[in-house]
Amino acid sequence: MKVLGIESTAHTLGIGIVDEEDVLANAKDMFEPEEGGFRPREAAEHHYKSFLEVLNRAEQESGLEVSDVGAVAYSRGPGLPQCLDTGAVAARTLSLKHGVPLVGVNHCLAHISIGTRTTDAERPVTLYVSGGNTQLIFRNQGRYRVVGETLDIAVGNAVDKLARHLDVPYPGGPEIERLAERTDEIFEASYPVKGMDFSFSGLVTELKRSHHGEEVTANTFQEHAYAALVEGLERAMAQEDVDEALLTGGVAMNDRLRSMIDSMCGERGADFSVPNKEFCMDNGAMIAHQGLRRLRDGDETPVSAEVLPDWRPDEVEL
Ligand code: AMP
Ligand code: MG
Repeated sequence: MKVLGIESTAHTLGIGIVDEEDVLANAKDMFEPEEGGFRPREAAEHHYKSFLEVLNRAEQESGLEVSDVGAVAYSRGPGLPQCLDTGAVAARTLSLKHGVPLVGVNHCLAHISIGTRTTDAERPVTLYVSGGNTQLIFRNQGRYRVVGETLDIAVGNAVDKLARHLDVPYPGGPEIERLAERTDEIFEASYPVKGMDFSFSGLVTELKRSHHGEEVTANTFQEHAYAALVEGLERAMAQEDVDEALLTGGVAMNDRLRSMIDSMCGERGADFSVPNKEFCMDNGAMIAHQGLRRLRDGDETPVSAEVLPDWRPDEVEL
């Protein structure tokens, strides 16, 4: 069966089409604010205005039309309410118009399942790091358990806040990474891990108040924040007795974070997987794939169902 998936939890509108064998389309358009961070209302407006254009691209990439798909999936949560609503309204409309089933999926679990689909990972501890989420997730006894998470802001949000302070436009991750690569120098700052939980807002405040150059500040952020993530991940792997790690989410694009996890896994004799960059960032193909899996399990969502802005991955019954 072919499933069309709509992603609209935050800054990106993504529309993908998958079947059991292939990813047939993965079109997207990201909202880029003219200055500062992005406002949810403006991002939602972007998604609504660019919907038909992105849908057209998905049709062209796949050589299909919406009338050829057997179901429509959408990100039901977690995410920004206005953004979620835009995707949900579009998904309900397409489902009703074409008389095909509708399925609302959990965005975090979609990141994991596209990861296990496109890499060798089977039952990994997942480090999911994005603009809105930072979680260590492990499937155990019929449920994905959040074994560690940020207690305040997500690591991607921390990167973006620091970037804004350094006058780097949103999204700040790639430029912070480039700045950090230009130096080996760091200064001592707080190290944001407690057991398997994280806390990044203090580190950001501390760096904003410091008076070092932007390269050293960026490098200090990366070395402290990413080492803390790797420490939490390693502890979770030891606790769960698992020798597979999966890294996903927008911050998974970071080469320094990847190489730190690669070394840690190398030392433990564990496998490390990370999906292609197009599947790390928010995208529609992962929503379509998660929808396909949920439909196979007999899960459908009525058109009257509301979006779930605070939907945790550990609330989902498998
Ligand atoms: P997502 O919410 O999963 O789409 O991811 C978006 C987040 O990923 C934003 O906070 C970006 O700043 C961050 N990001 C993107 N590329 C990088 C990178 N190379 N290094 C660190 N963070 C990144
Ligand atoms: Mg995401």
